[in-house]
Amino acid sequence: KHANARVRAGLSSLGVDSVGELLEHLPTDRRQLRGVGDLKPGERATVCVCVDALHASGRPGQRVHSVLKATVSDHTGSIPAVFFNQPWLARRYAPGTGLLLEGKLDDKGVLRVWSHALDPDATARTALTAVGAVRAQPPAIAHYPATFGVSSTQIAALLRRARPALADVVEPLPAAVRVAAQLPDRAAALAAVHFPGDEGAAIAGRRRLAFEELLFAQLLLLRRRAQRRVRLAAPALGGRSALTDSWLATGLPFSLTDDQTDAMHELDCDLARAQPMQRLLIGEVGSGKTVVALYAMLRAVEGGHQAALMAPTEALAEQHATTLAALLASTTVPVGLLTSSTATGARRRLLAALRDGSAPIVVGTHALIEPDVQFASLAVAVVDEQHRFGVGQRVALDGKRTTGTPHVLHLSATPIPRTLALAVYGDLDVTTLRGLPAGRQPVVTRVVAPGPGRRDAYGRVRAAIAEGRQAYVVCPLVAEATEGQQVRAAETEFARLAAGELAGCRLVLLHGQLAGPAKRAAMAAFVAGEADVMVATTVVEVGIDVPNATVMVIENAERFGISQLHQLRGRVGRGQHAAECVLVSAKHPSRGPRLQALADHTDGFRLAEIDLQLRGGGELAGTRQSGPEALRVARLPDDLQLLEAARACAQEIMRKDPDLGAPEHVLLGEELGARFGQRARTRLAA
Ligand code: ADP
Ligand code: MG
Repeated sequence: KHANARVRAGLSSLGVDSVGELLEHLPTDRRQLRGVGDLKPGERATVCVCVDALHASGRPGQRVHSVLKATVSDHTGSIPAVFFNQPWLARRYAPGTGLLLEGKLDDKGVLRVWSHALDPDATARTALTAVGAVRAQPPAIAHYPATFGVSSTQIAALLRRARPALADVVEPLPAAVRVAAQLPDRAAALAAVHFPGDEGAAIAGRRRLAFEELLFAQLLLLRRRAQRRVRLAAPALGGRSALTDSWLATGLPFSLTDDQTDAMHELDCDLARAQPMQRLLIGEVGSGKTVVALYAMLRAVEGGHQAALMAPTEALAEQHATTLAALLASTTVPVGLLTSSTATGARRRLLAALRDGSAPIVVGTHALIEPDVQFASLAVAVVDEQHRFGVGQRVALDGKRTTGTPHVLHLSATPIPRTLALAVYGDLDVTTLRGLPAGRQPVVTRVVAPGPGRRDAYGRVRAAIAEGRQAYVVCPLVAEATEGQQVRAAETEFARLAAGELAGCRLVLLHGQLAGPAKRAAMAAFVAGEADVMVATTVVEVGIDVPNATVMVIENAERFGISQLHQLRGRVGRGQHAAECVLVSAKHPSRGPRLQALADHTDGFRLAEIDLQLRGGGELAGTRQSGPEALRVARLPDDLQLLEAARACAQEIMRKDPDLGAPEHVLLGEELGARFGQRARTRLAA
């Protein structure tokens, strides 16, 4: 009885409270497995490993929390793992045991395990599998994500008992769709996945469940978009007039690239409509998105409306405010700034001006979506680095409508292949800025090993400083986590460099844990050229624009993903001087290709594709918050074709029956409501 309660609590923590939910608790998909050597801090993943060693721990007096430490490995490497409050596992998981572990890699590179299951095949597979061939055959038995109180075996047993309930499973897909896409029915798919035996059937079953999941996501996106179009009205902004015309003709310090001009043209078409624009502007770091966004904002202002730009951090908002004001120097349009550190008096005056319409443009952080911020007539809202905001925050600006719903322009520097953009941003129109502005120097990137390579890198930094340039040093951590760890931390590195390689240079330190004023002082000193080197964590990744900075050294580069490294190096090469980026990393077989890709390519879109190939799935950087719902079954980009099929199918359904009222679509509509009901409703009301 007691054990039952524990099992029930365990299941409940997995989101399983009913037989129906149990049937939806799918076994681990081996296509999702990641190599331990490829995990990045903060990433959650499932790995298939062999226990190499167990380390007894816990002081004798320690009663409450027990920690079991282990070393586990697969063909990509070996990492420490910790299990919490389950001391008995030391007896069950002896060295040599094969395990499936689900958990999260912490900042110290330790896998914190939250669910685990025995995997007898693991040992053999780890020994035999060649690099890159993680995807193995489905096992003879299903392994379930389990947790404290309930094991994979117990879940499998419960499922065997629940099997008759499969007969009651509802089939939401219209027969025509199933036939056309050659998909088994829902009950058969679930049975094949839970009770493997026939390998082909298990694969077809998962494919069916993945298709259904993608179809629902696409239907939701398409419906949201259609309903937004039908229900919400935006101020239609007619042709250009004097303000924008003269700004374009004489106000800009550079001539626009073709891509920028094309993007502005697309914006004109959107803004002329009385339906709210929902456009995503994707462009490489440094591709010049800001001026395009400002164009849209000025179009609102000359039409007698207002515009707002929302940035993910205070530093970025401040920088945008400065940039916009500089770009608007030839006009009389003022730029307001609203963040959580705006002083009370200034804030009150700005809010009043936004309410009565006398403040035409405001730049800010989340502070912009607080309820007391009201606009006289907000016509254009720009959301910068949109992936950093949750979906709720992104749509919240819609709620600021007064004379109508604003036209919204999302900016993103995450270069994702177009097909994937469909999955993630299926409800947005997409514009891409491909080229970089003329005169931009490609950043020459090199990979070096610690030792002479690093010494040489700091030699380059000193040489650049001697020529009057500036440099960045990026470290993966803020502070040293454990003694003797081989990972560079910004604080220690700052002190070390100041006394060593960069003695005599003016250094500033920037990381996320500094207090606001210290952060601002560091940024200001670097922007003003009063500091030669900024030693920082990834806080420099977005938005910092110092054209005089020409060298970036990235320590422990293997700790960062491809897209993150690409973003980071986008901080240099912004001026007329040649720029370089040095990736310092000890050699590692599975990470080498990633770093080499950065040395070989400067096109972010190409790098995004390489990233996807090398990872063979997993989570696409920067898109986690953006999807309508995390994908449980489908894996991108593996299931790209399935995604395209699902999208085509969703479009066809929406064309024929947008309200899902036809008899063959009723169950589909109900399932959509059940899955996304709450979420879908709140969005439509926005
Ligand atoms: P991002 O797309 O990363 O936001 P920005 O808009 O910040 O890029 O532009 C990067 C830099 O390039 C800025 O200093 C900006 O003034 C400059 N810039 C933008 N467009 C052009 C252009 N057409 N020609 C030259 N420089 C440009
Ligand atoms: Mg930008």
